[in-house]
Amino acid sequence: MTEFTHKQPELTDTRGRSLRDLRISVTDRCNFRCRYCMPREVFGDDYAFLPHEALLTFEEITRLAKVFASLGVHKLRLTGGEPLLRRDLETLLQMLREIPEIRDIAMTTNGSLLTEQRAKSLRTAGLTRLSVSLDALDDNIFMAMNDVHFPASRVLTAITAAQTAGLTPVKINMVVKRGVNETQLLPMAEYFRHSGQVLRFIEYMDVGNSNGWRMDDVLSAAEILSTVQKQWPLKPLPAQTPGEVATRYSYVDGGGEIGIIASVTRPFCGGCTRARLTSEGHLYTCLFASQGLDLRAHLRRGDTEEQLYELIAQTWGLRTDGYSEIRLAHTPGFQNKIEMSHMGG
Ligand code: SF4
Repeated sequence: MTEFTHKQPELTDTRGRSLRDLRISVTDRCNFRCRYCMPREVFGDDYAFLPHEALLTFEEITRLAKVFASLGVHKLRLTGGEPLLRRDLETLLQMLREIPEIRDIAMTTNGSLLTEQRAKSLRTAGLTRLSVSLDALDDNIFMAMNDVHFPASRVLTAITAAQTAGLTPVKINMVVKRGVNETQLLPMAEYFRHSGQVLRFIEYMDVGNSNGWRMDDVLSAAEILSTVQKQWPLKPLPAQTPGEVATRYSYVDGGGEIGIIASVTRPFCGGCTRARLTSEGHLYTCLFASQGLDLRAHLRRGDTEEQLYELIAQTWGLRTDGYSEIRLAHTPGFQNKIEMSHMGG
């Protein structure tokens, strides 16, 4: 494979946003059925997931990642579905970490398949950071949300395994839905205080078309903040990187850090530097997109790195995305959005 180097002035979209982060979905399958992402009514036993041959191979993912890297990407995040359902992920990590421009490879998982040994092998293969989804400590509430009767205790064990393996600080992502798990806000905050891990509260979003989203079910960032603040005073922290999605706070008493991801009530589209590559090789420039670019077709018909470079550069250059701002402005939303389990979150 020809070593591809292509230096051009910084690529930005129509709003001056650079391309810095690539989220790579390695599978559309998941072993959970979280109601806000993969409700069982839609993703039932007869749901037609992608056949293996439709998925990008590790070589194809790496080729594309190299082109994205030459366009300015230096952070990769592996997602799914549940990424650990894709076999031999360590092989992909070893290939991706060879890309000189890539400084950071993270992954988002539900933790169900993460043992200490696996955490260590992923770390050794090149994984640098990990986010684990956990929506409640109370098993009844957690099981009601993941809809597969998977106990929270096993996710907590996975989080400790990741910490032990050096994937620190582990970030814990908690989607908060009014009337379902807001009673878990304080128990979760208490559990992760002084743990060295970072708990992030995520506003419930209208991802995809299947979760029956209503604004009434959204517990806003302001409500989440005041709930925690009443118990433990917080102070704001500066963003760590441009375009960071979470607003960061630390406990005044030294209890650690939390984050709030408020796509609904405090859109952050203005600093959005993220592109998404689905497991079958489609490029999307927004989580709420309904249109994408089939890069797999270009790969498999033999396009050169140069041609792929021009294609992606042109797509990003024309990008205008700002769905969360549109949603907030109550402008009629997009129809037929790509499902989050397919897009990779
Ligand atoms: S809604 Fe789209 S443009 Fe806005 S922050 Fe999310 S992914 Fe980026």
